[in-house]
Amino acid sequence: MSEKIKKDLIRCRLCQEIKEGVYLKSYNLKVCLNCFLNFFKKRVEKTIEKFKMFDKKEKIAVAISGGKDSVALAKVLKDLGYNINLFHINTGIDDENYAENSEKAVKKFAEKENLPLKILNLKDEIKIDIKLAAKISKKEICGVCGMVKRYLLNREVKDFDVIVTGHTLDDEAGSLLSSLIFWKEFMKRQWPVLKEEESLKKRAKPLTLVFEKETKLFCEILKLPYNPQPCPLRGGPYLFFKNFIYTLEEEMPSSVLSFYKGFLKRKKEFKWEEKKIKLEPCQRCGYLTSAKICSFCRLKEKISNLL
Ligand SMILES: [Zn+2]
Ligand SMILES: [Zn+2]
Repeated sequence: MSEKIKKDLIRCRLCQEIKEGVYLKSYNLKVCLNCFLNFFKKRVEKTIEKFKMFDKKEKIAVAISGGKDSVALAKVLKDLGYNINLFHINTGIDDENYAENSEKAVKKFAEKENLPLKILNLKDEIKIDIKLAAKISKKEICGVCGMVKRYLLNREVKDFDVIVTGHTLDDEAGSLLSSLIFWKEFMKRQWPVLKEEESLKKRAKPLTLVFEKETKLFCEILKLPYNPQPCPLRGGPYLFFKNFIYTLEEEMPSSVLSFYKGFLKRKKEFKWEEKKIKLEPCQRCGYLTSAKICSFCRLKEKISNLL
């Protein structure tokens, strides 16, 4: 999906020098590698400010998977002077050594950048493999994996002000498009920052306005360690929409940016049906849920019944 970005000798539009650089067709911009790094950092910084995500005094927990997006995010936040700690959840996915390679990359990155890192093992928490957990709960693997990761992160970051994730423009535009196609409720909640709701920490996506091509280039220029493998278990509609968004942007540069930005601009004008779901603490663990018992505790019960 994401092919190599061609590097050429170009006249940089930002510093006017003739140097090795790239052509970013989404912005119709020729830029040298050095100026690209600043350009990327500034875009992220502006996004953080525009959506009032967090400030330099707040304690930030970065959810780091070891892929290019979360690695680029951690590096930018560190360089911009934010107070960050890394949290990695080892998914235990052993196909193609995915989980092992991801953890290795995260450790290497944390060491290189001298950043505090905490690693949690998903298997220790639910006692079984994520594939089996998905089978037991009769749900898609990505959904179960995401639910468990969110749960664990929220539990671990009690002393922090905000959780940040490496969701990019490709991710956000992909989920927006899928919400539109299937008229999913998710659209109501989709926003670059979600405020704190009792047991659920504030969450922010500072890469919401950058393309994955850019996070890859950022990591490559700085030679940051990351795991280039996509999750071997991912698939289904999520992947379809992401690939579609990628192709759309390739064919019609800047269309994806205008699709997503247009949504952000108009969201307030939409009239959403008021059907507020009431969240209450889970009777087992206190995590906020729309049911009596949260999905994590329900999954654990199903697992312990089987073991
Ligand atoms: Zn330049
Ligand atoms: Zn619970």
